[in-house]
Amino acid sequence: MTRPLPDDLLRVPHRRDVPFARLTTLGVGGLCRWLFEPTTEAEAQAFVRACAREGLPWRVLGGGSNLVVLGDLASPVLRLALPKTITRQGDHLSAPASHGHIALAEAAAAAGLSGLEFASGIPGSLGGAIRMNAGAYSREWVDVLARYRFLTPEGDLVEKAPDPGEFRYRWSFLTGGRVVLSATAALAPGDPQAIRAQVAEYRAKRGTSQPLSKRNAGCIFKNPPGLSAGRLIDEAGLKGLRVGDAEVSPEHANFLINHGHATAAEFAELMDTVRARVLEQSGVDLEPEVEIWHG
Ligand SMILES: Cc1cc2nc3c(=O)[nH]c(=O)nc-3n(C[C@H](O)[C@H](O)[C@H](O)COP(=O)(O)OP(=O)(O)OC[C@H]3O[C@@H](n4cnc5c(N)ncnc54)[C@H](O)[C@@H]3O)c2cc1C
Repeated sequence: MTRPLPDDLLRVPHRRDVPFARLTTLGVGGLCRWLFEPTTEAEAQAFVRACAREGLPWRVLGGGSNLVVLGDLASPVLRLALPKTITRQGDHLSAPASHGHIALAEAAAAAGLSGLEFASGIPGSLGGAIRMNAGAYSREWVDVLARYRFLTPEGDLVEKAPDPGEFRYRWSFLTGGRVVLSATAALAPGDPQAIRAQVAEYRAKRGTSQPLSKRNAGCIFKNPPGLSAGRLIDEAGLKGLRVGDAEVSPEHANFLINHGHATAAEFAELMDTVRARVLEQSGVDLEPEVEIWHG
């Protein structure tokens, strides 16, 4: 960023030169030159308004669990740091977008509310989960989403219930400068023991099928309609393929893992190779599920 940032933007709490390795679960990437961490919705709004007014490109980051960052990023990055309070009204739970996703699922289970068991193994923030319409075990966020609040690219606050077409498989319209601020899940009272058992079963499944002891960004490619990206990668003989410290997990072919010192360039090369080899082998062009930020 060569031009100075305006004063009203600089009044929003921020840090300089934070390594993306610390901001993402995969642990690669260069420096986040400007990391803005508003602690109130008003500060988040001030950030978006200032960027819109100045025509500054910017991005929003959650828990960094679905991201591969390639290089340094000079444009401002917004990471909400709103107070992590959960409010309950009847069977509805509301939380700020910066709330930990797994922690929210755990709070629902502890309150004897059923509906978020699917979320109990999906890392990151609530905001990232709504934006991605995160899901597992045939359930996804839009199934339980009652209302949500977000900022428009101009910084206006909108609160609404989801409408048809706003959410589909691992996609929502909450891109292009829209920022999720909070969400409310419509849950149902359940037997606390049964909820805990379901959560434990889902966790056990992940523990045996996913390489959770190594840094990763979850599933790298989307499942093509009716197909499994992991199976296609496995059938192309790519499990264990390694570029430097980046590897196609021998446990789950749709996970790429960081053995500790992988670079962004190594991940980029590994992803390109997997995509090209699957295309060659099966004729399917895999589409990344992770988001890729180029510096
Ligand atoms: C071990 C592991 C297992 C996983 N399992 C699953 C799974 O079963 N199912 C699944 O769906 N995903 C899974 N994921 C992927 C990931 O956890 C989800 O996509 C998650 O919801 C991303 O949330 P995040 O806060 O980390 O988002 P980030 O990775 O920080 O960002 C992802 C996208 O969301 C945007 N974003 C973040 N916060 C906001 C906000 N407040 N407003 C608007 N946009 C925002 C970012 O700009 C980016 O476009 C897994 C990941 C890992 C590492």
